[in-house]
Parts: sequence; structure tokens; C-alpha cells
Amino acid sequence: MAFDEPLRRRLVQAVAETVIAHAEELTALDQAIGDGDHGLNMKRGFAAVLADCDSIAAQPLPKMLHAVGMALVMKVGGASGPLFGTLFMQLGKSLPDHPTLADAPAALAAAIEAVKARGKADVGAKTMLDVLVPVQAALRDSRDVPAAADAAAQATIPMQAIRGRASFLGARSVGHLDPGARSVALIVRAVCGVLEGA
Ligand code: ADP
Ligand code: MG
Repeated sequence: MAFDEPLRRRLVQAVAETVIAHAEELTALDQAIGDGDHGLNMKRGFAAVLADCDSIAAQPLPKMLHAVGMALVMKVGGASGPLFGTLFMQLGKSLPDHPTLADAPAALAAAIEAVKARGKADVGAKTMLDVLVPVQAALRDSRDVPAAADAAAQATIPMQAIRGRASFLGARSVGHLDPGARSVALIVRAVCGVLEGA
């Protein structure tokens, strides 16, 4: 699969439009175990990406991903802005100049390590990492990636948060889906939807 400009544009638009369309749901999730800004944070970030879609998608895939990450760092804010920014920037840095889908598992693994380092977190803390890590494993093992993403997001419900704002709630964070985990699942579904049709 060649990541030509029309495909790159479809990827950027699908991810941004999906996140924006789910802003209210993400906010409601963050109202339950955080401060209720996650939907607005993500919407602001991906609206900036969408507004810059032409120049972002004009760049080769690694540079494009890095540019998306830069926009998210600058616009999303909160704890999640630098973390989603790091994810996309490191994905871009980790891909070879002419990437294929076969390069995705290693690049995602490197990006996950960068997110872990940035947020001083690991799996089991009820964060976006609890979806990112199972998604990387599914990709590596050629399993159903969107199904793995959704299952992993649901699996954050019984977890107690030990990183991020939700950790302030202690045991009361149990029983709620993590907003950042849901965002990752939405992004993964959007990417897979475009790639399946490509
Ligand atoms: P804030 O918590 O500053 O209000 P957001 O509401 O935008 O920021 O994002 C919250 C999400 O960020 C959480 O649901 C969680 O998935 C993720 N998150 C928070 N802290 C960390 C961390 N240290 N490592 C990984 N993800 C984190
Ligand atoms: Mg929040």
C-alpha cells in the first residue's frame, strides 16, 4: 500500500472528524472521573489539524504524522495533549522514509515507549496506554485491530486509575471507561476504516 496524498488526506480527515464527532461523549466520560475537558481538548486539537489538512497531508507520511503531533501538542492542552502529541511525533520519527503497513508495529512500539516515558505510566494505570499496548500487539500478531481496541477500552472500566487526574478519585475511579482510552479506540477505528477501503 502506497501512502499517497489522497490516502493521507483521507486518514487525517477521518481521524479528525471522528474525534470531533465524539467530543460530547469524551467530555461525558471525563466528567465522570476527571474535570470534563477531554472532549473539548481533543476537539480543539483535531479542529486545528483539520484546518491545516492540506499542508499536513501534502507531506510524506512520517513528516505528516510528526506535523499532526506538533498540532496536538500546541492545541489539545491538558495531560493528554503532550501525550497524544508525543505519540504522533514519535510515530513519524520511527517510520522509514517510504513506509509500508509492515513498518507499523515497530513504529507504534517506539511511540508507546515515548508515551510511557513522557507520562511516567505503564499499562494497568487506566490510561490511553491500556488501549495502545493491546492495539500494538494485535497489529503485530495480525489480529482484528479495531476489535482489540474496543475490547481494551472496555477493559479500562474495572481498573482503578493510578495515573492522571482520575487517580485522585482512588477506588471511585473504578466502574468508568477512561476517556483517553476511548479516544485511542476512536482513532484506531478511523484509521482502520480508511485502510480497509484503500
Ligand atoms: P486532564 O487530565 O489534564 O484534564 P484530559 O482530560 O485531556 O487531560 O485527558 C485525560 C486522559 O489522559 C486520561 O483519560 C488518560 O487516558 C490520559 N492520561 C492522563 N495521564 C496520563 C499518563 N500519565 N500517561 C498516559 N495517559 C495519561
Ligand atoms: Mg480532563
